[in-house]
Amino acid sequence: MQTLISKESTFSEGINLLLELRGNLFEQISSIIKTFPPVAFYQLPFGDGESNHNATLAWSLWHLFRIEDIVCHTLILHDSQIFEEDWQEKIKSPLITTGNELYGEVMVEFSKKLNVKALYDYCKAVMDSTNELLKSLRFSDLKRKFSCADKERLIAGKCVSDSDSASWLIDFWCGKNVKGLIQMPFSRHWIMHVEAMRRIKNKLCQEAKKGVDQIACCGLSCNHCFLTAWCGSCRTIYNTCSFATCSPDGVCPNTACCKEKGLDGCYECDELYDCKKGFYSLGKDTNAIRAMALFIQKHGKKELLKVLETLHKKKDFQKIQEVLGEEIEDGLRILEEIR
Ligand code: SF4
Ligand code: SF4
Ligand code: SF4
Repeated sequence: MQTLISKESTFSEGINLLLELRGNLFEQISSIIKTFPPVAFYQLPFGDGESNHNATLAWSLWHLFRIEDIVCHTLILHDSQIFEEDWQEKIKSPLITTGNELYGEVMVEFSKKLNVKALYDYCKAVMDSTNELLKSLRFSDLKRKFSCADKERLIAGKCVSDSDSASWLIDFWCGKNVKGLIQMPFSRHWIMHVEAMRRIKNKLCQEAKKGVDQIACCGLSCNHCFLTAWCGSCRTIYNTCSFATCSPDGVCPNTACCKEKGLDGCYECDELYDCKKGFYSLGKDTNAIRAMALFIQKHGKKELLKVLETLHKKKDFQKIQEVLGEEIEDGLRILEEIR
């Protein structure tokens, strides 16, 4: 992408690729916002430190898009930041700075104060605005440099803390030309922080799962699930099962139904064999999972886990459907044969 942007003949192609990359990364951010509970946004699962993942999810979003807003508007366009459209009040932030000066518990306390939904809307508005700038750039703009007056304007705006951990940012940005800013912060900064957010959310899921029953309500085993690194189990608030996240309000109908009936899982239900609810409504696609729930009904969870261990040792597969097939009876027969 950077190579394409560096040549006049491929400049437009490079910018389009950059916009596509930003779109893909923003989708990952949207998915985190949609699937993670409010409490997740002020956790510091990797503790204090210098790395990008020594942060909260809320701070990561704040930092990434405050920097982008400042660089896009105050430094490059010389106009008002998106932030000035009353976003501080909407987000309920006590700060206007980039947040580089925050660490550990101070960062956690800051994150607790933020309205994450409003923060997400701000992030989207900033992204859209920067995308407009990127689309309007001409190849000749890439060499544009910044002056002492640009630096003074950034200092006067007080959007960068004067602490040692933050003040270097102004010299860093002003030492670049527009092409350099396209790398940092408009692309590489995104990659770094979205990757850090991915690590933070996965760690939160793993922490949440500790000591929790690994058999899901539908009969799946979290320990043997190909999503296990990313999902905190449907028995915790960190449930990011793709079926649940695509369900209305992000709630899996099977877990909701079990809760309503006071059941540990569908394997305790008399209607299991013919049930058409939620995950089981997918028929042939999930009959293998229904077969596992029926197997639990007959032999218990421990037996299913033993059988799954054997199956995974014998065969290399991702989804249990690949081994148990599309029919309930076939699935049950295979499980029984291995037992
Ligand atoms: S489909 Fe529902 S019950 Fe099954 S693993 Fe996903 S969230 Fe849990
Ligand atoms: S997707 Fe379902 S089975 Fe897989 S880890 Fe999440 S809750 Fe467990
Ligand atoms: S009715 Fe269906 S979804 Fe509800 S507990 Fe029974 S098997 Fe599960």
